[in-house]
Amino acid sequence: MAYLGNSARTKEILAKYNMSAKKKFGQNFLIDSGVLENIVEAAGVTDEDCVLEIGPGIGTLTQYLAEAAGRVVAVEIDKTLMPVLDDTLSEYDNVTIINEDVLKVDIGQVAAEYNEGRPMKVVANLPYYITTPIIMKLFESGAPIESITVMVQKEVADRMTEGPGSKDYGSLSLAVGYYAEAEPVCDVPPSSFIPQPAVGSAVVRLSRYEKPKVRVRDEKYMFEVIRTSFNQRRKTLSNSLSNNPALGVTREEIQAALEKMGMNEKVRGEVLSLEQFAELSDILQSRGAMLN
Ligand code: SAM
Repeated sequence: MAYLGNSARTKEILAKYNMSAKKKFGQNFLIDSGVLENIVEAAGVTDEDCVLEIGPGIGTLTQYLAEAAGRVVAVEIDKTLMPVLDDTLSEYDNVTIINEDVLKVDIGQVAAEYNEGRPMKVVANLPYYITTPIIMKLFESGAPIESITVMVQKEVADRMTEGPGSKDYGSLSLAVGYYAEAEPVCDVPPSSFIPQPAVGSAVVRLSRYEKPKVRVRDEKYMFEVIRTSFNQRRKTLSNSLSNNPALGVTREEIQAALEKMGMNEKVRGEVLSLEQFAELSDILQSRGAMLN
């Protein structure tokens, strides 16, 4: 079986199965062998690793992963791709395909079943329409995951890797930054895919911290503070946070908390670091109502 990572083979396979890429599943197949090699190298995949791939498509990245990893478990929602994957991955005996929506899969169970509960590396060219839910599920599930190396929309990659003060800084930067160190790997043009996406893409690597980056009394409360702050980005923190009844704090209490932190009462969320959000959340929570 020849590698799929080029335009001719990809078109050949799609024609053989009389298929075209499905927009509703965010299907954009990689046809650039250089990018595929970059992804596997950035993920640092070795034959000791069990890799979880999300959305194998016609098996393009899966082939590269199967060559490098000890085992690959790939979760694909599209049932019509099952016979294609049987064909394109027939030479590999270390690949398991699970035909399921990844958002419904118990990732901890996958690690238990295929990797004796040890941490897996996630590697994927993600379906862009559900990038954030997938990343948040991987982190919040508490499943054993060592790193996540993924192709995402360029704009989302920027949001994951930027810090306070940048226009791309927001709740995704903070959520990712709480769990992992985010590093850009490379930018990828639309011409590296069939069909070409309307937006630019980029590969990022998220290396999970052993423990979250900051200590906070109640992470759910902190993330509510963060979400509220960025929902109304141009408003001051005391305005936006006092408008959210779930936080149970008044404008005066927020201003007092900011003062205690040595910050101006007119400050906006976009300048606060993760550490500052954790501190603010702890102070506010000791004053406001507890979230259920
Ligand atoms: N890995 C292939 C490649 O690089 O050429 C295909 C990547 S394509 C951008 C995204 C893949 O994710 C598609 O195969 C799509 O069917 C699959 N997908 C979309 N939603 C999914 C979901 N909820 N669970 C699992 N797979 C999904």
